[in-house]
Amino acid sequence: MSAEQRTNSAGKVKLEEQEIGAVLYNVDPIIMKYHYEIDYMHSYAQDSPFFEGLSKGELWGSKCPVCGSTFGTPRGHCMNCGAKTEWMQLPLEAKIHTYTTCYFGSQEFLAETPFTLILVEWPNVDTFFLSRLLGVAPDEVKIGMPVRAKFRRLSQFKPTDVYFVPEES
Ligand SMILES: [Zn+2]
Repeated sequence: MSAEQRTNSAGKVKLEEQEIGAVLYNVDPIIMKYHYEIDYMHSYAQDSPFFEGLSKGELWGSKCPVCGSTFGTPRGHCMNCGAKTEWMQLPLEAKIHTYTTCYFGSQEFLAETPFTLILVEWPNVDTFFLSRLLGVAPDEVKIGMPVRAKFRRLSQFKPTDVYFVPEES
């Protein structure tokens, strides 16, 4: 018999009552807070070189050896012909293809609103790369603005390790 099980005077087994309450935020339907925490082990698998690059201050896209398509956001296989791609290092200097200013965001980014997301464009690269733009007020961002990639000094091996700032002229 575990410590939580007791027998009552009639000899019946019953769980011991708990003195832990629950905080209800709503009753109908019941909405309550429940703390949940987990260590999540995951693999970047074939995308690992991209994240390793971020930790070294490098940006890596991919290139199709068959049809020559190039991808600013790396892809394991070509989206045009399906062939397995090869890694291709990208320059740190680029241009803003387009941008949006976010006044709302997920929990991780909510405290940083408003922030600007840009689609980064390189000459001779067929697709773009989504990243943050720092150091420019939202109303001063311009399509075509030259930008440069910067990296967190202490890599988290996450896409947010890289961000862009205006290229100093
Ligand atoms: Zn291809």
